Amino acid sequence: QTIESIDLVSVIYKESQIIDQEYHCSIDLLCPVKLFYPIEVKDFRLIIHNLLDNAAKYSQDNIKVTVELEKDDKNLVLIVKDQGIGIKKENHDKIFDRFYREDQAHSSKIKGTGIGLAIVKEIIEKYHGKIIVTANLPKGIIFKVELPL
Ligand code: ATP
Ligand code: MG
Repeated sequence: QTIESIDLVSVIYKESQIIDQEYHCSIDLLCPVKLFYPIEVKDFRLIIHNLLDNAAKYSQDNIKVTVELEKDDKNLVLIVKDQGIGIKKENHDKIFDRFYREDQAHSSKIKGTGIGLAIVKEIIEKYHGKIIVTANLPKGIIFKVELPL
């Protein structure tokens, strides 16, 4: 079962509400209406769920998370930005390795198995896309997912 843009937006909304209740983060959702992209529902749900779960989990209470869904000339682009604890630049590639968690005190306090982003990357590669990590200065991290049209 594949979905198109309007459904993608509703998946983001549903997942945002779950995250909001669990973590009390405010979510800004910036999405234009018509962006057609065929992707399996379960795949898109896993991508957005893992990115939002991380954004909320590695932020403190009431930290803002922004989600954008847009299209450029080559890709469907999904951007998730948070203002949380961030990730050291030298570890930006490692976080996609299975079972890798950042070697900081917070990792031991915040629950997780280190598998979420490995799954996200696998799914994105199935669609021949890529995921890019950058710092959200002054605080937090930005995940940009590009899925080719
Ligand atoms: P799981 O997702 O399996 O429950 P996890 O969240 O630890 O566990 P990943 O989602 O794969 O695993 O993330 C790997 C590591 O990358 C995390 O342990 C954390 O150190 C870092 N990380 C991921 N997302 C963020 C984020 N939004 N802010 C800060 N650190 C992050
Ligand atoms: Mg995770």
